[in-house]
Amino acid sequence: MDCPFCKNEEVKHRTIIENDLAFAFPTNTPIVSGHILVCPKRHIQYYEDTTSEEKNAIENLRGKLKPALKRAFGAEGFNYAWNEEKIGGQSVSHFHLHIVPRKEGDVGIYQYEPREFLYRPGPRTVASPQEEIDTAIKAIKQAL
Ligand SMILES: [Zn+2]
Repeated sequence: MDCPFCKNEEVKHRTIIENDLAFAFPTNTPIVSGHILVCPKRHIQYYEDTTSEEKNAIENLRGKLKPALKRAFGAEGFNYAWNEEKIGGQSVSHFHLHIVPRKEGDVGIYQYEPREFLYRPGPRTVASPQEEIDTAIKAIKQAL
């Protein structure tokens, strides 16, 4: 296994906070200053592979980091996200929650626009055709 989050001494050196089951460190390619990754200590690719104790450990660190990021970087809001599989942008196959502190004016500086990947292109005033939404509801309900 060649996982940078498990094996990389430099990542260990970057660790800011940890508990028994999870740890957090700033990414070396931050969208904005204070962009943090929170990982389970166990090498797991998918969130659903975490135990409830690991989920609690990750949430515990997120809860401590949020007010710290407000104090340290003046964060006024946050993006929380994870990527899954290559098509979803997961570049390291070790589950990691991104915490991105946001504040007014950071978009232009860092060219980060969540709507470019979280929302469909085009104006938000135009909803999807009802037929498309109904088809999605039906497909998901049948798959559940
Ligand atoms: Zn790993």
